[in-house]
Amino acid sequence: MEQILEAVQSGASGDDLGQLPIPESYRAAYVKRDEATMFEGIESAEKDPRKSLHVDEVPTPELAPDEVYVAIMASAINFNTVWTSIFEPLPTFLFLDRLAKESRWGARHAQPFHVVGSDGSGVVLRVGSAVRNWRPGDRVTIHCNHVDDQDPTAHDDSMLAANQRIWGFETNFGGLADLAVVKANQLMPKPRHLNWEEAACNALTNSTSYRMLVSHNAAAMKQGDVVLIWGASGGLGGYAVQYVLNGGGIPVGVVSSPEKVELLHELGCEAVIDRKANGYQFWSDEHTQDESEWRRLGKDVRALVGRDPDIVFEHPGRQTMGASVFVCARGGKVVTCAATSGYMIEYDNRHLWMKLKSIISSHFANYREAWEANRLIADGRIQPILSAVHPLEDVGEAARAVQTNQHEGKIGLLCLAPEEGLGIDDPEARERIGEDKITLFRRHA
Ligand code: NDP
Repeated sequence: MEQILEAVQSGASGDDLGQLPIPESYRAAYVKRDEATMFEGIESAEKDPRKSLHVDEVPTPELAPDEVYVAIMASAINFNTVWTSIFEPLPTFLFLDRLAKESRWGARHAQPFHVVGSDGSGVVLRVGSAVRNWRPGDRVTIHCNHVDDQDPTAHDDSMLAANQRIWGFETNFGGLADLAVVKANQLMPKPRHLNWEEAACNALTNSTSYRMLVSHNAAAMKQGDVVLIWGASGGLGGYAVQYVLNGGGIPVGVVSSPEKVELLHELGCEAVIDRKANGYQFWSDEHTQDESEWRRLGKDVRALVGRDPDIVFEHPGRQTMGASVFVCARGGKVVTCAATSGYMIEYDNRHLWMKLKSIISSHFANYREAWEANRLIADGRIQPILSAVHPLEDVGEAARAVQTNQHEGKIGLLCLAPEEGLGIDDPEARERIGEDKITLFRRHA
């Protein structure tokens, strides 16, 4: 990999990069199959990614005709790496074993290790024989929608494809590594004004928020909509706030500290609720929700913006879903993509049907949506929300910080990039867009 890094740094041509030998092994962050039961009997919060995530050499898999090898310069933590590393709700080796049954190429994924990571920026090193649109030397970011484009079910909305998977979570050979194997239809051009780590942190959560709020496939926000955003300074929320502002909506951000309130104000979100300071107790005990607390949240939203939210941006799940359905406006939409605090959801159905509200499910984004979301980053209309950067060796620490909610925005990892700040291809564009805007989350951390 040293030779590859040297070539990337010296600006070697695509032809030269394409001639370099692909190493037989590479450094990667992974969990081990024989450790999948290591946390059995332990409380979720005590399951520590620092114990289960390892960084070491793994063998390089053969390249399928529709795939490329990417030299990964930087990557980022997503919550799915937390799930993999605590083996919840199930060990992700089950996904790999299922994929292995599908084809000869799928069989490569069932290994004693699972290389994690669903984001990455880097340089294309080699393309398979069926790849048409990309060449060695292309500087790229990677989105995580892994779809077989010869499957007819993938050709309306590829998120509806029968074999849709999330790369680095439901497939092996993910982005928290010096090398990754991805399908050519996961590639997008790297935003030229960003450095490697800023370019690496966006694709997964930015594209997810884009689909949830902007795309006709989910909530399709319109001008003037009030949008209540849980976790508004987190990985999904930090982009969601920007989409609402860009689209002429009115964001109401929910966060859990005065520092996060301040960050959101600087991002342009005027209406912010500190859920910790307000002390909502939506659940009076493990089995009972308290409608008066839902009502209190609703009043707080009205006090800030004068009316109920047309859209609620949901992902905390069990803890908040009852409240989300309740506070949503008559005819409004609760758009959900996750359940961090628990996936067995309870809400009062009377509040849903009597007021003609809808719950809309959303999951990552199709290629078109991810591409549009990436273009908005490249145009400087959406900013990266990188707040911290670590070397790949600290992947366990970084995942633990996300698991325990000690972060804002995204945490980046340097893979092949030897230091921060490298890889900016268009410094003029960076200056035009504004260093302050690009680094807002970093300055607040
Ligand atoms: P982050 O941890 O970066 O942000 C989530 C934020 O939610 C936290 O910062 C916290 O903000 C808030 N939060 C956490 N727990 C609660 C709670 N019990 N009640 C209210 N707010 C809470 O994670 P992401 O935004 O990256 O991801 C969030 C979830 O979405 C994860 O479960 C992830 O796996 C899932 N996800 C799903 C995707 C999909 O395609 N389906 C894509 C991306 C993520 P604060 O403390 O400030 O309120």
